[in-house]
Amino acid sequence: HLDRISEVDGDLHAFLHVAGVEALSAATDVDAGLAAGQAPASALAGVPLALKDVFTTTDMPTTAGSKILDGWMSPYDSTLTAKLRAAGIPVLGKTNMDEFAMGSSTENSAYGPTKNPWDTTRIPGGSGGGSAAALASYQAPLAIGTDTGGSIRQPAALTGTVGTKPTYGSVSRYGLIACASSLDQGGPCGRTVLDTALLHEVIAGYDARDSTSVDTAVRPVVQAAREGARGDLTGVRVGVVKELHSDKYQPGVISSFDAAVATLTELGAEVVEVSCPNFVHALAAYYLILPSEVSSNLARFDGMRYGLRAGDDGKHSAEQVMATTRAQGFGPEVKRRIMIGTYALSAGYYDAYYGSALKVRTLIARDFDAAYEKVDVLVSPTTPTTAFPLGDKVDDPMAMYLNDLCTLPTNLAGHCAMSVPSGLASEDGLPVGLQIMAPAFADERLYRVGAAYE
Ligand code: GLN
Repeated sequence: HLDRISEVDGDLHAFLHVAGVEALSAATDVDAGLAAGQAPASALAGVPLALKDVFTTTDMPTTAGSKILDGWMSPYDSTLTAKLRAAGIPVLGKTNMDEFAMGSSTENSAYGPTKNPWDTTRIPGGSGGGSAAALASYQAPLAIGTDTGGSIRQPAALTGTVGTKPTYGSVSRYGLIACASSLDQGGPCGRTVLDTALLHEVIAGYDARDSTSVDTAVRPVVQAAREGARGDLTGVRVGVVKELHSDKYQPGVISSFDAAVATLTELGAEVVEVSCPNFVHALAAYYLILPSEVSSNLARFDGMRYGLRAGDDGKHSAEQVMATTRAQGFGPEVKRRIMIGTYALSAGYYDAYYGSALKVRTLIARDFDAAYEKVDVLVSPTTPTTAFPLGDKVDDPMAMYLNDLCTLPTNLAGHCAMSVPSGLASEDGLPVGLQIMAPAFADERLYRVGAAYE
């Protein structure tokens, strides 16, 4: 895999940092253990992985795609990193991402964009475009992403790979650099549903260091993937979300989705249409709640504690140094969201914006609850279009946000969802993703249906 990285990543730019020697020594440790007759640490021991550069690592830099963290080394490993190490999984390197996970194309990375391996003039999705591109170009067989509004599922869809956003609270956020804390969730990415399930079980689990971690058993997703692979969905009720199916989506995406629904029916599932009327407000609510949390979370990057410090020439006050550091260290999208969030949370506007968005969030969760009284899983296209050309939407934030239409409701409700490859769009030959959604702590349903469909 390291050879493959040096062969193709100069062009694709999936990695911000390649581990090299560190990864090799972890792999050698696994080999030595096996040679000495020790049981492997996990089913994935020795299988290398690409880690999104938003999880802290003591042996490699962590930038979150931002200049403000350039050169910063974390003094501690994230819980997820520690779990990978304990499972004997060598980390090949840290992958490119939109700055602080804000974006849908990886073009907001301060270190330059990642290209889509299917067509290098196009974006690989975002914010986890580096992880998805690493998988699709065979630079890594496994990867880790984070999903705040779709950043695992949307890149998976646009690169023909698999990605799961686990139930909120099931994968520790300790050492995951925060974007929006009530929405962020780390999750597994792979080229097959079973690979993704194996990784899911490695990274999930209660962590006392994360105040929103839920103390409950890890869901049996590997068993569910194996069951699903037999291809029988008899007794499974699938709901097609009316509000996430529109003639405004790319025709090839809709025809691939309709074909997927026909396949699920052939596999024995009972498919019905369900309505979730408040999903149409998810985008507006998300793009108030997320910036509000961002404006608070990113206050810690003040030039005093981490990474970049600019303008500290002995003649300026601490406040001026902070302002200079933030002006130079943050990119335009991050600044835009800090400003929107600060505005939405300010006295006099709080009720009208942030307060209303929270009410919509509750209504969306209720729509899900009502739907799950009738069905076991919900399905939709993962994204309204296939991968678009690099540069197409960088100057149009609204057009960029519209990519997230189908993925946002799951994050707002704290539920789980997966994207699985669903063929290629007829008009451009690019990958399309099928989104499968399930209630909180029913992640195994995603894997059963995903493996049957795959
Ligand atoms: N594209 C969404 C955003 O820009 C989702 C990001 C994410 O999931 N981290 O906020």
